[in-house]
Amino acid sequence: MGLGIGDDCAVLAIPPRHQVLVTTDFMLEGIHFRREWHPPESIGHRCLTRGLSDIAAMGGEPLAAFLSLALPRNLPQSSVDRFLTGLLNLAGKFGVSLAGGDTAESPGGILADIVLVGSVPKGKAILRSRARPGDRIYVSGELGGSAAALRWMREHSKRKLDPRAFARHFFPEPRLQLGRVLREKGLASAMIDISDGLSTDLAHVCEESGVGAELRAEAIPVASIGKPARKVGLHVALHGGEDYELLFTVPPGKSVPARVAGMPITHIGHITRSKKMLLVEKGVVRELIPQGWQHFTE
Ligand SMILES: [Mg+2]
Repeated sequence: MGLGIGDDCAVLAIPPRHQVLVTTDFMLEGIHFRREWHPPESIGHRCLTRGLSDIAAMGGEPLAAFLSLALPRNLPQSSVDRFLTGLLNLAGKFGVSLAGGDTAESPGGILADIVLVGSVPKGKAILRSRARPGDRIYVSGELGGSAAALRWMREHSKRKLDPRAFARHFFPEPRLQLGRVLREKGLASAMIDISDGLSTDLAHVCEESGVGAELRAEAIPVASIGKPARKVGLHVALHGGEDYELLFTVPPGKSVPARVAGMPITHIGHITRSKKMLLVEKGVVRELIPQGWQHFTE
């Protein structure tokens, strides 16, 4: 069965003098979400956020999404409808059409495979590989809020979190406008979205660029979550995933405003020649080891 498509293939119009961006992601029940924790709308929303955030990280514009779903036979139709509502609400907000897809029966849990197609003016995609020693490192928003909510659910398995009060985890916003403005202003030398955690995603930039980095612990914008709001720990802000904020580097001599496209921007460190990542905390320097984002697979 096809999904929202009338022909054998989708036909996409690409703006003139643009290049095509393509990103693909799996969302697996039990790995990326749990039905007892995540309402269907949140699963649909988060499914699309992953791809949109990748497009944002290149400074691109999203064009269309393609969704392939494998669903257990006993899944109520109302859950499928709510999943699509969550996904389509976010798609509508950013002018992305769901241009095709497929559904099949899953012998196990829910599997969602999403492909996002976007575009960027030719030669203007912001890559991970262009950070240079001396560039300053910036992040948007606050970090650790999504992982802290996840940790809470893991530790309090009998209680539920109100998705509206923990939107950072349940309904994260891709930073498309920020990515676009950074590209238009030519501010960022390199960029990545923080999907796997600051330490891991910064390590990707360092590796691709052949450089190192030094971060100031006190500068890292640590998220506040819950009501009343409490700051999450530095460890969660450094290593927790799925914040979908943008991390970017800026060459010396270019000034960055405190807010770009409505988002607060924080200077957290700089790129170095040595190929290590260092964290300076209260004057003490230690190596920052990327701690890959582990979903909830234990
Ligand atoms: Mg990414």
